[in-house]
Amino acid sequence: MITASPTSRLSPPIRDWRELWRESITDAESLLDAVGLAGRADLLPPDDAGFPLRVPRGFVARMRRGDATDPLLLQVLPRRAEHDVAPGFSVDAVGDMASRAGHGVLHKYDGRALLIASGSCAVNCRYCFRRHFPYGEEIAAAAQWREALAHVRGDTSIRELILSGGDPLSLATHKLEELTRSLADMPHVIRLRIHTRLPIVLPERVDEALVAWLAALPLQKVVVLHANHANEFDASVDAACTRLRDAGATLLNQSVLLRGVNDDVTALAALCERSFAAGVLPYYLHQLDRVQGAAHFEIDDDRALWLVEALRARLPGYLVPKLVRELPGDPSKRPIADFAR
Ligand SMILES: *Cc1c(COP(=O)(O)O)cnc(C)c1O
Ligand code: SF4
Repeated sequence: MITASPTSRLSPPIRDWRELWRESITDAESLLDAVGLAGRADLLPPDDAGFPLRVPRGFVARMRRGDATDPLLLQVLPRRAEHDVAPGFSVDAVGDMASRAGHGVLHKYDGRALLIASGSCAVNCRYCFRRHFPYGEEIAAAAQWREALAHVRGDTSIRELILSGGDPLSLATHKLEELTRSLADMPHVIRLRIHTRLPIVLPERVDEALVAWLAALPLQKVVVLHANHANEFDASVDAACTRLRDAGATLLNQSVLLRGVNDDVTALAALCERSFAAGVLPYYLHQLDRVQGAAHFEIDDDRALWLVEALRARLPGYLVPKLVRELPGDPSKRPIADFAR
């Protein structure tokens, strides 16, 4: 269906993504400075609560200058509220994640196996479970993949392999090639899915080599992006999405419902419409994982349901994401309405 050559739209040379990644902002003062809030050290907590700030400069460039409530800034800037101890929020909401990382593979849902391909991310999102597991590089490196891939090889009910993390696209392309090469003797696996935020926060990652790898894979390909606000999209993200689609991938987006970032109908509708303009369909809207230090982002289920109903009244059905929460032990992502009503 998609016939354009994968390299046809790469004409203006893009800078090497690893170089851009290394140039990321990693301290709060520099970030405030970069967004015109240099005088606002009062916004900062005494420390980063053990979860370092990290954000690529291209993403920072999409923040509004001089606005301490910018929805992109709020996702990455350490805040005082992270130090509040909130009941029901634990570091153990991710005990699950710790064990996932240990085995490298999670086969929880029928037909789909999720591989923790990498523990690294190009951005540290303050609401993420990773705040309690700022993994080093390569958490499920080659040796662990072998174990995980042996599981996938041995279970022919697995139709779809999901690369997740962390962010699987934080791996070098040759590592991804190595990983997918082992799928050659697993004809039961017909789909590859990639869960990644990199094309949003560092779109240069979608370079010629990545596109060539993806285009050559003899599988159905799905890339699930993660953007929470319309402002996360710009021309560079549009171009990355186009390259991914040219490589034959279906693009979906998952978001997290976040107080102060996207918890109003206008912001959510704009996100869905902007995603679609980039060729990306809304997929899931997640209720926050209840991890310690993220309670100030939480929206209660009643309000979340109301927001999605308002969205449904405003948008075509195909632009309305499914509101879900992940609960340990569940057989699938759980639509919120099932237990809230
Ligand atoms: C989210 C998730 C999936 C994918 O679920 P879908 O509903 O198909 O998007 C698969 N395995 C695990 C362990 C997951 O957490
Ligand atoms: S990119 Fe995803 S996994 Fe990484 S910190 Fe952000 S939300 Fe967490």
